[in-house]
Order: sequence, then structure tokens, then C-alpha cells
Amino acid sequence: MASADTASAGAAADTDTIEQQVADWIDDNWDPDLTLGEWWQRLADSGYCHPSLPTEAGGLGLSQSEALRVMRILADHKVVGPPPGLGYMLAAPTIAEHGTPEQIQRYLPSILNGRQAWCQLFSEPNAGSDLAGLQTRATPDGGEWRVTGQKVWTSQGHAADMGMLLARTDADLPKHRGISYFALEMDQPGVEVRPLKEMTGRTFFSEVFMEDAVVADDAMIGGKGDGWRVGNTTLAHERSSIGAGSAGFIMAAPGTKAGHFDRRVGDIVEAASKRRVGGHAPGVGMKLYERWTQLARELDRTDDPVLRQEIIELYTLLRVNRLNLQRARDPRQRTGGEANIAKLFDAELHRRFRDVSLRIVQADGMLAGRSMATDPQIAELALHASAPSIYGGSDQIQKNILGERTLGLPKEPGPDRDTPFTELPKNG
Ligand SMILES: Cc1cc2nc3c(=O)[nH]c(=O)nc-3n(C[C@H](O)[C@H](O)[C@H](O)COP(=O)(O)OP(=O)(O)OC[C@H]3O[C@@H](n4cnc5c(N)ncnc54)[C@H](O)[C@@H]3O)c2cc1C
Repeated sequence: MASADTASAGAAADTDTIEQQVADWIDDNWDPDLTLGEWWQRLADSGYCHPSLPTEAGGLGLSQSEALRVMRILADHKVVGPPPGLGYMLAAPTIAEHGTPEQIQRYLPSILNGRQAWCQLFSEPNAGSDLAGLQTRATPDGGEWRVTGQKVWTSQGHAADMGMLLARTDADLPKHRGISYFALEMDQPGVEVRPLKEMTGRTFFSEVFMEDAVVADDAMIGGKGDGWRVGNTTLAHERSSIGAGSAGFIMAAPGTKAGHFDRRVGDIVEAASKRRVGGHAPGVGMKLYERWTQLARELDRTDDPVLRQEIIELYTLLRVNRLNLQRARDPRQRTGGEANIAKLFDAELHRRFRDVSLRIVQADGMLAGRSMATDPQIAELALHASAPSIYGGSDQIQKNILGERTLGLPKEPGPDRDTPFTELPKNG
């Protein structure tokens, strides 16, 4: 068995042969007897883990559409995919863009080899849509900062080793200008994570309380007061990733708390193949469309004219979404609003898939869990479907952004932009 070959992976910039090169690399490197830690390390060393990152950040500098092709080959070969989660999706590209070379070397390797999981410490009880109104403060203390405040809705906060933290470092400046962006270590006395239970029955997110938590000066990403700009890079990656949907990988959770590194990758693949439906809501794409239409046939529901109409509307929406994603990946056609449009599509598709599936199974849809006769993911989706129109910025906020940044409409009038944060009215 050959070891990970960085040089051959680096040649993947030739787009005509990307598929073949990735397939060859998998042939040489995939071994079901590897531990997850060993496999992820090989993937990280090859650059195929996150190929759209620049080479100095551990990627191959590929375009988004080339990177997607790499991901498809990994998914098609049914190997374990790159370490999923917010470190991979958000922290890695943000630090690659705004971090110093030293910060890139410090944080990126342990994201790409799955050793550390990250969470996003942005939203607060009084700062969600109005994120720039956040009140968590970071105060200088020698060569470090002391952080005090509360975050909420922190996805995977209980499983994270590190947090992307937005905190106010100067309250005398207007609200967008007094924020800084930090890489915060979650395991320290000043950080308390309180998991919350969702209506799906799961614990996906947490509240995070910080009381004099410590973060070093050199863990600030971007300059002091640059947090709004850096945070917007994170949000842009969040919106485009949510809108693009999932590649359908076999996944294992990263980070020290999940602790999967010593598992044999062959066992992870086998467990995934036996799990016909995962415990989570399914991805809303063509595969789910095919599954639901098949279910409609099996349950003899295809004569229902309303259901037929809803199914064809769903299909149309999926096709239009695909065109929007294609445009997003083509620099000649891109207009700038595609990520927000894709995020709106994702929220709408969740609602439509929910409604279609409930119309197919009717009252059965009220039954959650594996005892359900039809498909347990229907109940899961029904309970989850309202979340995508909130997380990553609500539907209304996507529309505001499209209006202001893409269509050039005037911003809402208000004192926000120029008034010191201390002088702005606040809730709570
Ligand atoms: C499943 C899930 C996971 C999440 N994970 C994370 C995470 O990991 N990290 C994190 O930091 N956050 C996370 N969030 C939080 C998410 O980003 C916020 O919930 C979201 O930004 C909305 O903020 P809010 O809940 O405070 O609602 P609010 O901002 O109070 O909004 C309430 C309503 O008012 C509307 N509204 C507000 N302002 C305007 C306006 N100017 N114009 C028009 N309408 C407006 C909104 O659209 C919404 O309908 C998560 C949320 C969910 C549901």
C-alpha cells in the first residue's frame, strides 16, 4: 500500500484528468484496515481533503467546481469523506483568507486531519439577525484578552475543541467597527457549554457562557476591529455551503470529544451501508426526490392530482436550483447573489420536501422513530424543516442582503452605522 502522495495529488490542477487522478489516488491509499486518524491524515496530506484551499493552507488551489468534482469521486468510491463540520466548512477557508501564515500553520492541519472540531460563536440572545449588535466583550489583559458574554444556538458546541468567536473589543466605535474575530479554546475554566434539546429530540446546539475566558492576542484572526469583515467571510462560506447541499459522503464526526480516530475505516463504511436511513434529516436533493416519488408509487398515491402537482413543482425547483449553483461556480456568469439565492432555495426545498412527504404518507407522518411503517426520515424532516430558514441568517435577511448588495437598493435608514455602540438603544 503506497503512502499518501502529495506530488501526484498536486498535479490535479489539470481539470481534464481530475476524476482519474483522484480515483488512482484512492486506489493507492484507501485501505479498510486504516484507522480513521490514519486515513484522514492521508487525505489531508494529499490536498484532496479541502482542494479549494490554497496550497499553503493545505489545499490544491482548485476552483469550486473542480473541488466539487474531487468530492464527487470520493463520495462515489464510498470511502470515508473529509472531516465534516464547521471547522472544515467555515474556519478553514476563513483562516486561510484572513489568518497570518503562522495562524494558518497553527490551525489548519488539525482541521484537515479531523483532530479538532470547531463551533461558531456568533449568535447571542439579543444578536441574531442583527449580529453586529453582539454584546460579548473581549478586554485586553497583558498579552491576552479576557472574554465575557453569552452565545446561543452554538451548533455542536458541546463537541467542539475550538470556537470561531466574535466579540466586541471597542464599544466606543460604531457597532460594525468595534468587533474582533478570535480562535477560542473551548476547554478552559472560563467557558461553560450548556447543551439544549431540540424538538427533534436531539442535542444539536448549545448555549455557551464565557466568564473571563482567556484568548491569546495571537489568536485574533484579522486585525483588531476587523471582525465584521472576517465574520462576513465565514457567513459567505456558510451560505454557499448550505445552499450547495451535501456530497453524500460517508461521515464520521471529527474532534477529540467525538473520539473516533482509532476506529477502523472499513467498519465505519460497513456501519453506514447498513444504516438505510441515518438518524438525521436527509439532504434535500435529487436522491431524496427519487426516494419520495418511489414511495408515492409504492403507496399507490400517484393518482392524487394535488400530490402530482406538488411533485412536479418540487422537481422544477430542484432543476432551477441546480442552474443557480452552476452559475455560482462560473466566474463569467456570477452576479454575486447566488449564495443567498441558494440558501433561500435550500430553505424552500426543505419545506416542499416536508409537505410532499407528509402528503404521501398522510397520518403516518406523525409517527417518529424507527417503528414507522414507511420511512422514519419523514418525521425527522418534518421536525427539522423549519430550521434551514433560520440558521446561517434567516430568509428575510437573505432577501435584505440581495436587495442591498446585489440589486443596489438603499440600506434601511438608521443610526447604526455612525453612532458609537455604547450610545445605541439595546434590548435586555
Ligand atoms: C439549527 C440552528 C443552528 C444554528 N447554529 C448556529 C451556530 O452554530 N452559531 C451561531 O452563531 N448561530 C447559529 N444559529 C443562529 C442563527 O444564525 C440565528 O438564529 C439567526 O441568525 C436568526 O437570529 P435570531 O434567532 O436571533 O432571530 P431574530 O434575529 O430575532 O429574528 C426574528 C425574526 O425577525 C426577522 N428579522 C429580524 N431582523 C430583520 C430585518 N432587518 N428585516 C426583516 N426581517 C428581520 C427574522 O427574519 C426572523 O424571522 C443557528 C440557528 C439554528 C436554527
